[in-house]
Amino acid sequence: MMPRGYGGKILRVNLSNRDIRIEKTDIGYMLKTIGGRGCNSQRLFDELDFDADPLSPENMLVFGIGPLTGTLLSASAFTTISAKSPLTGILGDSAAGGFFGPELKQAGFDQVIITGKSEHPCYLFVTEEYAEIRDASHIWGKDIWQTTSVIRKELNDNAVQVAAIGPAGENLVRFATVACNNSRMFGRTGMGAVLGSKNLKALVVRGKKGVRLHDPLTFLKLCKELDEKIISHPEYADRRNLGSTLLMKALNNLGILPTNHFQEGLCDYVDDVSGESLARNFKTKNKSCFNCNIHCSRYYLTRETEGEGPEYETLCSYTSRIGVDDLKFALRMTSFLNKMGVDSLSSGETIGWAMECVQRGLLDKNDFDGLDFTWGNKETIEKLLPMIVNREGIGDLFAEGTRALSEHFQKGTRDYALHVKGLDMICGDPRGIKAFGLTYAIASRGGDHLRAEPFFELTNRFEEAEKRFGTRDAGDRLADNGKADLVVFTEKQALLTDCMTMCKNIGLSMDIIDFDFASRLLTSATGLKFTEDRVVRSLEGIIETDRLMNIKFGIDPSQDTLPKRFTEEPLAQGPSKGQVVPVEKMVKEYYRLKGWDKNGVPARKK
Ligand code: SF4
Repeated sequence: MMPRGYGGKILRVNLSNRDIRIEKTDIGYMLKTIGGRGCNSQRLFDELDFDADPLSPENMLVFGIGPLTGTLLSASAFTTISAKSPLTGILGDSAAGGFFGPELKQAGFDQVIITGKSEHPCYLFVTEEYAEIRDASHIWGKDIWQTTSVIRKELNDNAVQVAAIGPAGENLVRFATVACNNSRMFGRTGMGAVLGSKNLKALVVRGKKGVRLHDPLTFLKLCKELDEKIISHPEYADRRNLGSTLLMKALNNLGILPTNHFQEGLCDYVDDVSGESLARNFKTKNKSCFNCNIHCSRYYLTRETEGEGPEYETLCSYTSRIGVDDLKFALRMTSFLNKMGVDSLSSGETIGWAMECVQRGLLDKNDFDGLDFTWGNKETIEKLLPMIVNREGIGDLFAEGTRALSEHFQKGTRDYALHVKGLDMICGDPRGIKAFGLTYAIASRGGDHLRAEPFFELTNRFEEAEKRFGTRDAGDRLADNGKADLVVFTEKQALLTDCMTMCKNIGLSMDIIDFDFASRLLTSATGLKFTEDRVVRSLEGIIETDRLMNIKFGIDPSQDTLPKRFTEEPLAQGPSKGQVVPVEKMVKEYYRLKGWDKNGVPARKK
């Protein structure tokens, strides 16, 4: 009998021959991987042709949720999309909240696996009774907001949940996004381009089944316990009011707010573009994902535009990172990126890279179809973005991502392409947060914080640091020691959050879920014996699987590093002045703790 919690079915669709199959969820598989990102990774590892071109029909696209998705557990609404990334050529995945994952669960599915390529534009409609491939010619070319609205209208159901691409995905922009609920973005690693390469405009779901649990009373008690921890958390009020945009001022206070493409860590106009300013001047209401008691998202309204968000990464990418001091402009760009389906971090990095190359005299207007990339030039940004979306002129090259851009131009411009393994750096300068620096270097999808988010190093909880990680330095953001231990631990915590399909704002940043609590939640939901030990072993196994997969994609230790800016150029001012990241030493220590050899290869027995 199928354990409770899980939907119980896996949907497989081959768009080339329009073959649709429904399989029973394999419980052994779920016990091994829990769900969500873990299960997606295992699926790719087991079934993907590693040599496949990411934009070919052979690439495999996996939508995955887990046993707690759509339950009463706070913020358990996340879905992960995984595939070989067209931006990086290695493991790609991206998660988003909203209402899509819970709807997929209500339709009874744990995973949707899509291969092949449809001859014509299509969308896939999934309900608890059937799945069908429908024509999407009439919505090809439409933006994400229009697409959602047309599909809801033609299905005569405003409650269907739509995960769609915009024109950027259709045009195979390598950092194109998928969006659900219009503004919940599967942002990183170009999953939107993978949908586009399959002529798949959207995955649309509708379900009414409900989620049955093994031991509802115990589960409910645990949910209540978690709710209380969230509400009494010291950051609750700020997170609710500002969401992740609280980081604009917080990182500036630490001297690590990316400013003019990480050349500085202090931004003198931060007050004008901060989360506080956004909340004061443009926020009209809070928005929430399914069943979250923080509702951290915000709806904004200006004379020119409206929409949901932006998250910190978008806000920083379109203000201080590229020298823009105009908050209203950043909101207008947020709406544009969300509608067209473009990742704000990667697009922002292409712009920052171009601006720095111009500043240093390496490139000029003539290299960029006459566009003037002086710092903060809003006119240029506004002209460039549609060119990227439509792959017009120089926009065609920008649509390949910063790594490819710098490889095209050469002339010393590669040193200013701030990416790891092809994934553009997030907006936190690692020189003042060393464990984050290690995380970016080793993260299995490239320059990213979400694989570990070792916030503990910012807490100054020195005694606890000594007890948990063997050195007080683990609680000191500027120290190098103990950071590998910390990352090895928080990497599992981050993955746990993804496997339980929980929001990282809660599961990780607030540091209120431990392995024991998770094992009790999983056991009471499913009836399977998810002991603490089994949960930890599953997580460790998935991390090794991700590594092995990336080795098959061609990753070697030379890529477990950071751009030179962070290892050789000390920050010039502020509370992180003089710092660089000793990344080589930290990575070595990380390998040692993992039991990986000097080439970063996991031991055979693992
Ligand atoms: S904290 Fe914000 S992003 Fe996370 S689940 Fe709640 S509303 Fe969604």
